[in-house]
Amino acid sequence: MTTVVPKAKPKSRAKPKPRLKRRKPDPIKAWVKRLDRTRPGLMDYVLEGLAAFYDRPFWERRWDPTAELVLTILTQNSADTNAERAYISLRAAYPSGGPVQVHRPGPGWGGDGLPDGADPDWLAVEHAPTEELIEVIRTGGLPVAKAKGIQAALRFIREQRGDHSLEFLGEMPALEARDWLTRIPGVGKKTASVMLLFCFGLPLMPVDRHVERVSRRVGLLPKETAHTDPHDVFLAMLRADQMYEAHVNLIRHGRLVCHAQRPEHERCPLRDRCRFVDPKAP
Ligand code: SF4
Repeated sequence: MTTVVPKAKPKSRAKPKPRLKRRKPDPIKAWVKRLDRTRPGLMDYVLEGLAAFYDRPFWERRWDPTAELVLTILTQNSADTNAERAYISLRAAYPSGGPVQVHRPGPGWGGDGLPDGADPDWLAVEHAPTEELIEVIRTGGLPVAKAKGIQAALRFIREQRGDHSLEFLGEMPALEARDWLTRIPGVGKKTASVMLLFCFGLPLMPVDRHVERVSRRVGLLPKETAHTDPHDVFLAMLRADQMYEAHVNLIRHGRLVCHAQRPEHERCPLRDRCRFVDPKAP
């Protein structure tokens, strides 16, 4: 008789515990926390210093939002005065006969302000031969890209909405409105934020080259290598009621004192805490 030896049960292997994934820290939150800890009160210092130097700007609606969007596209990589010239040519080439618009550029605008006049006929601009539109806006600089950008924007708006009006954006929460606008080809966060801030007072912070230069020099923004979008860093650092003032006064400062070349440190109200002047500034 043969003895049956029961097979040894395979040793049960303990299941490896699932590794808890560490959430990556949000670099924007981390930056804001760090700035609060290492340089407390810096944003208030900048806002107060600039308000004492320039004044506190008050918001008023600049003008029609579609006009503002087109004008902002015309200002991309060009002086505001050139954009104004191109916009005046648009009005002359595609007259609409509509109501007269008053342009209230406010402080921070680098041009003279546009004369009162009706908006161009947006449908005519959208359907104009692109070569023709390029010639019309040539004085604004980069006419090929801008003509294509303006026509694409007008087409997108009409296809989505049935006409070219953007007044509906004023009823939306700020970030939703910005997301809607940035779906337009060629419209980024800066252009969208300019339009929504100046036409509706929505709490957004446009960051152009002047705002960015001053802010990086003082140390309000992390180094460019931090891969954070300055628009979103500012949204995390500012209260809603501070955004218009911060944008306008930082632009003024970049244009008038903190120039790209030869910034005028000696007459700057921010010099005591500016990291460009003193890398160990408090
Ligand atoms: S101290 Fe100089 S670098 Fe710093 S913000 Fe003022 S002008 Fe710009």
